[in-house]
Amino acid sequence: MYKDDTLKGRVALITGGGSGLGLDIANLYARLGAKVMLVGRTEESVQAAAEAINREGGTAAACRTDVRNYEEVKQAVEATVQQFGGLDILVNNAAGNFVCPTAELSPNGWRTVIDIDLNGTFHGCHAAYPYLKASSHGGSIISIITMLGVTGWPGAAHASAAKGGILSLSRTLAVEWGGDGIRVNTISPGPIGDTEGVRRMYIETGRGELEAKKTALGRFGRKQDIANAAAYLASDLACYVTGENLIVDGGRWLKYVAE
Ligand code: NAP
Repeated sequence: MYKDDTLKGRVALITGGGSGLGLDIANLYARLGAKVMLVGRTEESVQAAAEAINREGGTAAACRTDVRNYEEVKQAVEATVQQFGGLDILVNNAAGNFVCPTAELSPNGWRTVIDIDLNGTFHGCHAAYPYLKASSHGGSIISIITMLGVTGWPGAAHASAAKGGILSLSRTLAVEWGGDGIRVNTISPGPIGDTEGVRRMYIETGRGELEAKKTALGRFGRKQDIANAAAYLASDLACYVTGENLIVDGGRWLKYVAE
């Protein structure tokens, strides 16, 4: 429904762009005219995704990067600027997670998730800042979180704390960097039925119907729903929107609170 030139002339870096939600965001951004850099730890997956976008007539490149490593993130940002001439949009989408009761969670397991989700997001924001500030469109940072980072997430304290931390970081940066023309927002997806995580956690374990019923709309979302939200926040349609957490969860969070 967006015009094909909605993101024309912009450059986006998407962490975790080789699979799942990050890949759908990258595909939509490219269709709307942005040049996209996909980063992730698995070189083949980000390369294959970038090649597919280029075959479809878009412009994409890939860079093997572990977001836990600040130097690697900085290099990915610099490679993006070198290849595409600047950076206008950063999508912090990369994340890791596993279910574990907190009493059994090792400090190492805790640190790993905090390192990917929270520290990785900080690394992206920090490394991208000078280029986003220089963007002629105004910079835009979009981080993918979840309302489970606000409500709490029994069985995933590490991911919950990391996502809550990203929300807080984003609101802080929205104020600190607003004067630099940088907008900083988050998206909170609900359960997205066509992702590997939901398939593994809910559908394969026979909890699909139960989890879908926890949303007000009574169904899972689709990757495209999140890509559409990410396109909105990256575009001029959202040029006065900053510090916002766009909840795209079919009313799951509200139903949780209301019932
Ligand atoms: P996914 O397919 O597992 O994607 C995660 C991506 O992050 C992968 O491409 C992975 O690639 C990358 N990644 C992991 N660790 C990394 C690291 N250290 N450095 C760089 N990249 C790394 O998951 P998804 O379901 O699409 O989720 C995407 C985002 O949405 C996450 O932030 C997740 O928390 C959030 N979310 C998802 C749902 C849902 O229903 N799926 C709901 C709420 C929120 P490599 O392994 O190759 O590095």
